[in-house]
Amino acid sequence: MSMSGPAKKITAVKGMNDIMPPASTAWQMVEDTAARVFATYGYAEVRIPVVEETQLFVRSVGESTAIVEKEMYSFTDRNGLPLSLRPEGTASLVRAYVESGAYVAEPIAKYWYRGPMFRYERPQKGRQRQFYQIGAELLGVTSPYADAEVIAMMAQLIRELKLDGVALEINSIGCPTCRPSFNEKLIAHLKSVEDELCADCKRRMAKNPLRVFDCKNEGCKHVLDSAPRISSGWCDECRVHFDAVKDALTSTGVAFVVNERIVRGLDYYMRTAFEFTTDQLGAQNAISAGGRYDGLVRDLGGPDVAGVGFALGMERMMLLLEAQGKAAPPPSDIVYCAVLGEKALEAALPIIQQLRNDGVRVEWDFASKSLKSQMRRAGKIGAESVIILGDDELAKGAAVVRDMRAQAQHEVALKDLPRHFVNIGE
Ligand SMILES: [Zn+2]
Ligand SMILES: [Zn+2]
Repeated sequence: MSMSGPAKKITAVKGMNDIMPPASTAWQMVEDTAARVFATYGYAEVRIPVVEETQLFVRSVGESTAIVEKEMYSFTDRNGLPLSLRPEGTASLVRAYVESGAYVAEPIAKYWYRGPMFRYERPQKGRQRQFYQIGAELLGVTSPYADAEVIAMMAQLIRELKLDGVALEINSIGCPTCRPSFNEKLIAHLKSVEDELCADCKRRMAKNPLRVFDCKNEGCKHVLDSAPRISSGWCDECRVHFDAVKDALTSTGVAFVVNERIVRGLDYYMRTAFEFTTDQLGAQNAISAGGRYDGLVRDLGGPDVAGVGFALGMERMMLLLEAQGKAAPPPSDIVYCAVLGEKALEAALPIIQQLRNDGVRVEWDFASKSLKSQMRRAGKIGAESVIILGDDELAKGAAVVRDMRAQAQHEVALKDLPRHFVNIGE
């Protein structure tokens, strides 16, 4: 009937990786830390869908961006509706904010999100086609204190993850009042050096010239050394805002450097732009980036409400944690239950269940086996202690508890077992 031989393996799609244990435990540690830190600032989690109407990203991220032009996973559903897997989270979150009408009841909204994003890029270390972000958005506040608050929150997360060697770089990319005239100056300059620019920059020149500062091409970087700086084009409001952000960061103890080459790649940003960078991951030096986007809520059909936020890249964050030996979460105490004999096997289930109900991590082999093989297994999984359940001890209503580190053992009454381990765990 059937063909002989093993079935062909199905592998994961290129650039879409499984996050297996123990790596997944480290991911949880980062997410849990973010949730805890963000909660102290009053940010609540929003679960946004993975799929959105393509139009959302065309209107927010920008039609002429690389993301929308060539990196989105776009398709039509069975009804012919153009949809895309989200390439980033801010657009979805703002859409959700507008759609929920949350602004009607509460002028200030503080949200965070986590989850996979999708971009069709060449996969490399720290950059996948399905990649994960944690992001936070503060909506409804034009004050520079809002910019400073989201930056301070990200800085606190980095501190609590005990990461070293992360720098904060900030800039102001102007606003709709001052940027057009600066762009004219910049374009005039770029035209004079056009031959020396890469193809991408030549394209950017016409659509969003500020983005040439984002170019990773060494030739372009060199050419741009002589380009006019955005700071020379700031209007008074932009200058005052940026000064206030810097003062607020200083007063909250957040160290920063101003880098006029920090521009955000997406169309909706204005004024404050920032990146948390490291030199420990080679070329991909930003682990988190964000900025202010006051026009976005209005552009997506909502009220004229300000916004500022950031997203951090989980893959790069994990690479950095690994590089610094901080990816391993503290091991939980393991109690191994060795079962000797048929009566003990029956008695083991409720004992193990009670311990787990009390929060003790218990492992066992689902069978009665030789003490030797069970002790070997206990050693292999790194058990702190072993409960030895034998028929003789059970007859006395007791078990032997062996402390694996002290290499000592003693008898404990069955009724005292939960208390015994709960106390050890504390
Ligand atoms: Zn301005
Ligand atoms: Zn370039």
